Amino acid sequence: MPLRYCEAKSCSFPSVRGFTGRCMICCKFFCGSHFASAEHSCPNPHDDVNRYRYFDALIKARTSRLEDLLGQLDHKALAATASAARNGIPCSIPAFAPGAETAEIAKAQQGGQNFHLDIIFDDDVVWIARLKLANSPNVPPGEIQDYLFKSEVATMKFLATTEVLAPKIYDAKLRHDPTNKVGLSYMLLEKLPGKTLDWNGAPDEGRKKIAIQLAEIFIELQKFPFDQAGSIIDFEDGKATVGGYANRNFFTSPDGQSLGPFSSAKDAYEAIITHQLSLITNGEIGPLQVENYLLFRYLQEKLPEIVEKLGAHDRKFYLNHDDDKGDHLLVDDDWNITAILDWEWATLEPEPVAFASPCMLWPVNDFYAGKSKLAPEEIVLAAEYKKRGRTDMAEFIKSGRYWQRWQFMTVGMQEREEDLEGLIKGLVDVFGEGMEYVAWKKTMMEKLKDDDGLAILGRVTV
Ligand SMILES: [Zn+2]
Ligand SMILES: [Zn+2]
Repeated sequence: MPLRYCEAKSCSFPSVRGFTGRCMICCKFFCGSHFASAEHSCPNPHDDVNRYRYFDALIKARTSRLEDLLGQLDHKALAATASAARNGIPCSIPAFAPGAETAEIAKAQQGGQNFHLDIIFDDDVVWIARLKLANSPNVPPGEIQDYLFKSEVATMKFLATTEVLAPKIYDAKLRHDPTNKVGLSYMLLEKLPGKTLDWNGAPDEGRKKIAIQLAEIFIELQKFPFDQAGSIIDFEDGKATVGGYANRNFFTSPDGQSLGPFSSAKDAYEAIITHQLSLITNGEIGPLQVENYLLFRYLQEKLPEIVEKLGAHDRKFYLNHDDDKGDHLLVDDDWNITAILDWEWATLEPEPVAFASPCMLWPVNDFYAGKSKLAPEEIVLAAEYKKRGRTDMAEFIKSGRYWQRWQFMTVGMQEREEDLEGLIKGLVDVFGEGMEYVAWKKTMMEKLKDDDGLAILGRVTV
């Protein structure tokens, strides 16, 4: 069932799930035909000539949505809730101090899907209230937001039982919980020291030091295998419950149903590929429907090889941070990692996928261009595993591109053909089929010339 429908008048098609289907200005959702049509008059992000108009409108819209949420927030109830969670120690919220520029302060700690407010206790302990940007087009419909919230809370409770430096979670309630007086879904978290890592701006020495520390984190996570693929959705009395994937593309209905959990990677990938193909044919994926369809049929063709390569890794799953591009880490002035943040969207993946290097280490331009050479810091990480006697984990780095390219293409969905060209080249390359994008596309079109799904999307010539 589509997550949302196109909001153009008299259109009954599903809206596209990716960036091309949502307007960041008016918060409306559109099918592949109606974003850029007479029915939608917002400045277009792809209009290069009038780009300033788009950004101007975007900033105004984002500020207005944030102000709207701050208006729904009962800050006195938030302070009282935090205080009650710390045996009555009084606290204050600087963003709501008399005369404070509340929206400006909140904006400084605003990401794509959440914003944070500092809570300062009288004994100088600082907590963070993590609040969802629930009215942003970037976040999915309400019941899916609730599912993601539960998954993030459960994942953080699980992490608290490990040595991983995730913030402690003290309290969390959904917006419609009758005991929630705050007005919005909230999490109260420990504020850990350090500043957000700028990986690309870090000197070589700092990057090396961070790569070495990553080994320790992954070795710790590797101690906790799960029997199912999916996401952690509950954690009570030291026991985790695994549910469907907390992944935007894998939700099957707006009420929070998602794919999984699965007891084998084979079952998981089969279901994921079938689901993605259905999203393409029903119009929830686009543009590049034909190209993405060919891609997922190619992935389907390669699944037996993947399953064979997984071998014994097919039935154990490990926690995988979804957004590990570097700004999920806090570091001190000496490049020590002080915290790992933002566990929203975390999933449980087979070992070679979970422990291939995080994307912060990839040479991203090379990755998109289809080149698969490892970056210097990936070599450092592999060497560190070896030094610690973990040749098995060093091997996950060395063979990393194979799993990363599989995972990247299976889970995501490409919206720009210039990206697809390099990514496909890299993908077919790791499967030992050196071929340029155009040749690959032609081969797939020929193979699938009688395919029903492709017929739905309409014939194209290469
Ligand atoms: Zn709009
Ligand atoms: Zn439409």
